[in-house]
Amino acid sequence: MLKFKKIIIFTLSFVLVFIAIISTKNKNLNILHAKDKSNPLSAYNADDSTYKRTVYLTFDDGPTCIITDKLLDVLKENDVKATFFVVGKEIEGREDILKRIHNEGHAIGLHTYSHNFKSIYSSKEVFIEEMEKVRNKVKDVINISPSVIRFPGGSANHLTEDFLLSLHEHNFKVYDWNVDIFDGVNPNLTTNKLVQNAKKYKESYSRLILLLHCNSKNKNTAKALPQIIRYYKDLGYDFKVIDNNTQEYYYKLKK
Ligand SMILES: [Zn+2]
Repeated sequence: MLKFKKIIIFTLSFVLVFIAIISTKNKNLNILHAKDKSNPLSAYNADDSTYKRTVYLTFDDGPTCIITDKLLDVLKENDVKATFFVVGKEIEGREDILKRIHNEGHAIGLHTYSHNFKSIYSSKEVFIEEMEKVRNKVKDVINISPSVIRFPGGSANHLTEDFLLSLHEHNFKVYDWNVDIFDGVNPNLTTNKLVQNAKKYKESYSRLILLLHCNSKNKNTAKALPQIIRYYKDLGYDFKVIDNNTQEYYYKLKK
């Protein structure tokens, strides 16, 4: 009987020690993610119990004639959805392409009406007007009003706390990126180089937002896309679109 009690006590202490080790490990995981406070993606990880790595493919500057269609073909073949940050003036005369993006289940983000840096960044008010104008254009064509926006060139040197507040008041949410394939800076990079760039991400990020472009010069982006998709599928990433429910992601606010 005494021997039986000893076995019970031994088993119980073993279970308790095991539980203690597991909970310490979990704590460390949260500390690891919470450390980098400047990165909203880390904060997101800490709270996310259904931890799953996600990749968001985002295409800026469209819709354009040939390239956007090519990208849409590749996305369809691979059964992957993406987010297109569209420019208002590019929609003019290409309403059908915007409709195709929407009808095939991709998300629409806004990327100003003119994409003219000098004018869009002349004041907060002009920037917001530009975003309202492209939102209205999208509404006219496909009858949705996206809140998702991306600053041309990224928000880094423009977004202040005040500015962010005004954007929220106008029902806009900001999304930068954390992986750049550099097809915007140089559309002539080789397909191999673009694929290599797409693989450069920080291990600690559970949400990767890939910046790609669909300008008329981005032929190589369309060629690289199947390999980029294959790479992240093989790593077990989920592909998601950025919609009104996606947590915002921007670089540091300007003081
Ligand atoms: Zn752009």
